[in-house]
Amino acid sequence: MSDCEIIDPRFRAMVLPNAPLEKLAEGFRWLEGPVWFADLQCLLVSDIPNDRILRWTASGGVSLFRAPSQFANGHTRDREGRLIGCLHGARSLVRTELDGSITTLASQYQSRPLNSPNDVVVKADGSLWFSDPPYGIQTDYEGGRRASELPANVYRLDPHSGTLSVAAAGIAGPNGLCFSPDERRLYVSDTGLQFDPASTRGILAFDVAADGKSLANRRDFFKVEPGAADGIRCDEDGNVWASAGDGVHCIAPDGTLLGKIRVPYPVSNLCFGDRHRSRLFLCAAQTLYAIWVNRRGAQRP
Ligand code: MG
Repeated sequence: MSDCEIIDPRFRAMVLPNAPLEKLAEGFRWLEGPVWFADLQCLLVSDIPNDRILRWTASGGVSLFRAPSQFANGHTRDREGRLIGCLHGARSLVRTELDGSITTLASQYQSRPLNSPNDVVVKADGSLWFSDPPYGIQTDYEGGRRASELPANVYRLDPHSGTLSVAAAGIAGPNGLCFSPDERRLYVSDTGLQFDPASTRGILAFDVAADGKSLANRRDFFKVEPGAADGIRCDEDGNVWASAGDGVHCIAPDGTLLGKIRVPYPVSNLCFGDRHRSRLFLCAAQTLYAIWVNRRGAQRP
């Protein structure tokens, strides 16, 4: 339990006293975008500044999955199990088909190029929701400096028509996304303006309208300190596990901080995976960690 900090008594049953924080691999530049493939028993993860996607398995450790990766960042799997990726370099959302070819799903809105898609989630209806902040086009480190031609929106891509629509606007730096298990709520982490130390940062919550296509009732959900929440994931009970400057923060649906998992480096992204989705994989700067917990990642409808 030494890596876990109990803040609310409820957290005690959510972590394991004999499960340590495990270092799986190190020597990367900046990890993000973890996604678990239960069928292949592997984790894919982006090493953004090295322009590559890596594969981790328990038996084989880390190997190269794809390079160059167009500075891929966030990932998810769609309802058919295909890999969906956010590309800083190509400023697009793409799908890797079952034959290995790559299909561009979205690269522009109203005839203007997207900024640099960052994180993506899929809803039960097959729609893809992704954030489009300018982080990947503000430096040459994570993609390449280019002009931004669109505000930093959260988009919804309709699975049938392919139409892109703005789901949320007016967020300085929309970043990680996560639906609650019942999909009635969407969490959006706002990491603010990248180079403005005074920018407001926090996790926002939205209600998903009955039509499943639009958002309402924007409100502040939780402000992670130290650091900021980038990637976020819900467990089966709707608790939000958020990346943070000191590790992982676990937040109840009512916004109560339940506890923390302390990690030696800032955590950018995380995902549930492995047996019963009860192991958290943590992207912590140059290092990949994992820890077993006593909650399973949400299995959404
Ligand atoms: Mg992100």
